[in-house]
Amino acid sequence: MRAPLKPLDDALAELLARAVPVLGVETVDSFDADGRVLREGATSPLQVPPADNSSMDGYAVRVADLAGGGATAAELPVSQRIPAGSAAQPLAAGTAARIFTGAPVPAGADAIVMQEDCEPLEGGERVRINAVPAPGQWIRRAGEDITLGAQVLSAGTRLGPASLGLAASIGLARLTVSRRPRVALFSTGDELVMPGDVPPERMPPGAIYNSNRFFLRAMLRRLGCDVTDLGIVPDRRDATIEALRSASAAHDLILTSGGVSVGEEDHIKPAVETLGELHLWQIAMKPGKPFAYGRIGDAHFMGLPGNPVSSFVTFSLLVRPFLLALQGTADVAPRAMAVTAGFDWLRADKRREFLRVRWGADGRLERFGNQSSGVLTSAAWGDGVVDNPAGQTIARGDTVRFISFADLLS
Ligand code: AMP
Ligand code: MG
Repeated sequence: MRAPLKPLDDALAELLARAVPVLGVETVDSFDADGRVLREGATSPLQVPPADNSSMDGYAVRVADLAGGGATAAELPVSQRIPAGSAAQPLAAGTAARIFTGAPVPAGADAIVMQEDCEPLEGGERVRINAVPAPGQWIRRAGEDITLGAQVLSAGTRLGPASLGLAASIGLARLTVSRRPRVALFSTGDELVMPGDVPPERMPPGAIYNSNRFFLRAMLRRLGCDVTDLGIVPDRRDATIEALRSASAAHDLILTSGGVSVGEEDHIKPAVETLGELHLWQIAMKPGKPFAYGRIGDAHFMGLPGNPVSSFVTFSLLVRPFLLALQGTADVAPRAMAVTAGFDWLRADKRREFLRVRWGADGRLERFGNQSSGVLTSAAWGDGVVDNPAGQTIARGDTVRFISFADLLS
């Protein structure tokens, strides 16, 4: 009797539990830290902005100097000029200060009037103020972004453009992050030919181009990995064992595609069992059933199916969270959204299924016509997948769980 397939959530939980120990750390220039996982949190040694400052070009005033007697306009002498980057003197009573965006608000001023509501007089010596501001108008308060001592970044954050900018705003130029995972990648399959090696018109019978190598490498790079690309390994037991053995020496993860099913030409499973242990094999998901996880020496091993969409989906849902966890990422789960289906799916499957879909103009999801695991066009066409539970059909108008490629491939 065949063993029941492992539910995807159980497989993922097991992989995350095995993503230990978390990789060591290194300190890198912030400029080079995009996509890396922060390992030391940071609290702010200052407040941001450091002082009350103007959010407009205009005039700093005391509201009380303008509002008296219900006047709608007032004329005041201009007592100082405060560009951004300069220090302000306290505002003399009964005067206005010319001020620019980002410049410190002078002590005593309690509002900014934007220059569109003002008329400079006598070559800028005086100003007519044509609007009475509310107290606090156009003033950005000291510390309104970050207060002194606030936790600005926490360990486990995957750094992106906004968090890098935030780190800079509290004075950080270098950040402590996980070292890059070292990943050995190879494809199996005697039918595989590298684009560039053989032109389409000279492809031998039965040959296909190796597409998995290209997207797997790109996905690994996006996750911050150092990739050793070992190319194509022939469908032979000895060659497979040799490739796995040599890759296990200096890598955190060995990632393969193809050859992980049960045919006589599938050598991955017995080869891993010869060299190490296989902990997981075959997941209840579609596409992607033939997925394997094991250990060879100190290296983790993950075998992806050869069918391109299966490879793509298992990487996104299993390898990606594992590699993020290995780097110490706090939150590895892709976000799912409840979205309305603009399509029918009448063929319920025994396995949990990931349908390639994209946004339609009406804000509903459209489904790619051919959901075969060999049709890579569906992944390039799609904006993401619908995570459809086992045994469930979908009717137009139903709410489904959508996971975006923007999340899965970042
Ligand atoms: P396998 O998992 O090795 O049985 O392969 C399943 C299917 O995926 C077969 O049709 C293979 O030709 C195809 N395949 C395997 N590896 C690749 C690859 N690297 N690029 C494109 N197709 C592949
Ligand atoms: Mg094969």
